[in-house]
Amino acid sequence: MVGGGNSALEEAVSLTKYATKVTIVHQFDHFQAFEYAVEEARSNPKINFIMESSIVKFRGDDKLESVDIKNLVTSEIQNFKTDGVFIFIGYVPNTEFLKGLVNMNQWNEIIVDADMATNIPGVYAAGDSIVKRYRQVTTAVGDATIAALAASNYYIN
Ligand SMILES: Cc1cc2nc3c(=O)[nH]c(=O)nc-3n(C[C@H](O)[C@H](O)[C@H](O)COP(=O)(O)OP(=O)(O)OC[C@H]3O[C@@H](n4cnc5c(N)ncnc54)[C@H](O)[C@@H]3O)c2cc1C
Repeated sequence: MVGGGNSALEEAVSLTKYATKVTIVHQFDHFQAFEYAVEEARSNPKINFIMESSIVKFRGDDKLESVDIKNLVTSEIQNFKTDGVFIFIGYVPNTEFLKGLVNMNQWNEIIVDADMATNIPGVYAAGDSIVKRYRQVTTAVGDATIAALAASNYYIN
């Protein structure tokens, strides 16, 4: 697991239900997550930590086999065997191409109304690209349903 916020630590704990060992790689010497999430992860015997480090290379032929992890203090690189990496280090919506066209907030998230309509009549947005609190598959699908119904309604009328 890569990251040090609430999502990274909570997902790491969640992964221990399926994985025999989970390693959290984090670039700082402390976590940004809430104390309860840090405590939960720290007290889980299946989780260990590689702090002040960053993955610099993914290795494998047909599938992931290992990663190179760089210690950001010493610059030392270790090869670490793993068959899965989950990255929770924030996200940037791929909305650059819409800049100047539809209204967005400071994080390039598209501003929509309750019908998923943007400021441009007939243009709708849904899912992770819009301003919202909970980014989940279910909320994205719900947004998309609303956007599709509102769009078809717009074009019919
Ligand atoms: C590591 C991780 C774990 C997660 N775990 C869960 C979970 O357990 N449960 C859950 O509900 N949610 C989970 N989520 C959140 C969930 O994946 C997202 O909320 C959801 O996928 C958002 O759907 P979306 O369709 O808006 O965006 P995406 O699924 O990101 O789909 C956007 C699509 O648009 C394409 N695209 C981008 N730019 C362009 C372009 N210019 N032209 C054409 N196509 C383009 C992309 O290639 C992509 O296929 C997780 C997210 C991450 C990162």
